[in-house]
Amino acid sequence: MVTDLEESLRKTLKEVFGYSQFRGNQEAIIKNILKGQNTFVIMPTGAGKSMCYQLPAVISEGTAIVISPLIALMKNQVDQLNALGITAYFLNSTLSKSEINRVKRETLNGEVKLLYVAPESLTKEENVDFLRNAKISFVAVDEAHCISEWGHDFRPEYRRIKSILEQLGDPPIIALTATATPKVRQDIMKNLKMEVADVYLSSFHRKNLFYEVQPKVNSKKQLIKFVNHHRGQCGIVYCLSRKKVEEIAQLLQVNGVKALPYHAGMEAGIREKNQDAFLNEDADVVVATIAFGMGIDKPDVRFVVHYDAPKSIEGYYQETGRAGRDSLDSHCLMLYSPKDLDKLEKFNKDKTVTERENAKLLLQEVAYYATSSVDRHRQLLHYFGEYLEDDFDFCDNTKNDRKTYEARDFLILALQAAQQTEERFDINHLVDVLRGVKNDYVKSYHHDELEVFGKAKEQSDHFLHSLIRQAMIYRYFEKDIENITTLKITGKGREYLQKPTLVTFTKDHDYTKYQLEEDED
Ligand code: ADP
Repeated sequence: MVTDLEESLRKTLKEVFGYSQFRGNQEAIIKNILKGQNTFVIMPTGAGKSMCYQLPAVISEGTAIVISPLIALMKNQVDQLNALGITAYFLNSTLSKSEINRVKRETLNGEVKLLYVAPESLTKEENVDFLRNAKISFVAVDEAHCISEWGHDFRPEYRRIKSILEQLGDPPIIALTATATPKVRQDIMKNLKMEVADVYLSSFHRKNLFYEVQPKVNSKKQLIKFVNHHRGQCGIVYCLSRKKVEEIAQLLQVNGVKALPYHAGMEAGIREKNQDAFLNEDADVVVATIAFGMGIDKPDVRFVVHYDAPKSIEGYYQETGRAGRDSLDSHCLMLYSPKDLDKLEKFNKDKTVTERENAKLLLQEVAYYATSSVDRHRQLLHYFGEYLEDDFDFCDNTKNDRKTYEARDFLILALQAAQQTEERFDINHLVDVLRGVKNDYVKSYHHDELEVFGKAKEQSDHFLHSLIRQAMIYRYFEKDIENITTLKITGKGREYLQKPTLVTFTKDHDYTKYQLEEDED
């Protein structure tokens, strides 16, 4: 039975936004925030997060405050809303004094349905004073992962949002993000004090994306071969530096590909022209830094190439996520060299120690992903806290032959190592214990006296790391949410210790056997 509320939501969806049906969880989310409940939405890019706060904002009394980190996206959304006849504004540093006054006046008059605010504007005293007098329907915190230091896009000012909202009468919050590991999710909820929030988690599984990693041996040749194979199709090639973007765009042009560069260092007019050419299909390929793609909603991107390694799996997921929005099969290729990661690490040298350490952990996950021969869908989903019972089988790893081995005995040892060290240590320590490494740290805990100490001493460090990482993906171990480097044994792991069975694991890719290319930069 359709209730009156549902009827009215659908009517608004149709009449204001022009859509006939809600997608995924949208309706449930909208109902929740309309009840005044804190709401946490985790939904992949392109799934329709904005509707989750735009529609309730339109039908609520007062103004919804939307906190968003990117001024360009803010403007985009406000333009779109205005075109639909919705009164929406943004408040940020690009506005003149008189524009600001107008926005404030109309908001206080109750005419504005959505007000987009950058977090640094929200925290300004004068704006807090103004908002105190406004009738706020609810607050949407977009890109909520920016709250967490463990995320890939930490913004310190995001952490001040909650205390400001407390000064504004603590309106209900809807937090939204497209990428959040379980740890980041927990952090967001803690920071926004949303312990009682209702969480709406959509699956991150992109079933139509074929994932592949190739070692960088001769990247230019590899790229040309790949693009030739996809002739006439639309694609994005991501590079690390502006210089590389220019160079690779030229390389493709010389090879007869309709390719254009895009990066933040280009003149705005040209950049926009190139983006339009891509959207209008005058160009097939955009070669870009990661500045490209935010808010781009082109359905038929058939491939995404990472010419250089990404900074994090979150970034990789978002960037590859721009492929195949139309649900047709699309190909995501990463050209991988550990040297790229070294280079990325150097970019972080001016950051604080904590930021550097976190960035390093994120990079390490990229290295794991690239070298692991586990089904890539499984790997990516595991990263975001989802579990696939079986291989999904749409990636290079499952398509090509992999070296397998019988892992039972090693798996038992790894689980025992965790058990005997009371599940309080990280992977490095477990590997040291298994290999019988008598360093000061091991000795300080008397772990050299454990029964399991040195039981895998003939195995390499790399092998044991890979073993335990796979055991995590297959859910024998899990990361401790409070201290994410600590490994805990799962229920499945405990059961396995009771009743071990034969289990096949795969060997990592050995990229050392290739002559990886030297970077010319
Ligand atoms: P996200 O913020 O999750 O990346 P957006 O909010 O930008 O996604 O939405 C992606 C696209 O889907 C937009 O073009 C939006 O208008 C469209 N969209 C959202 N909800 C619906 C719906 N219920 N039916 C059809 N299209 C929708």
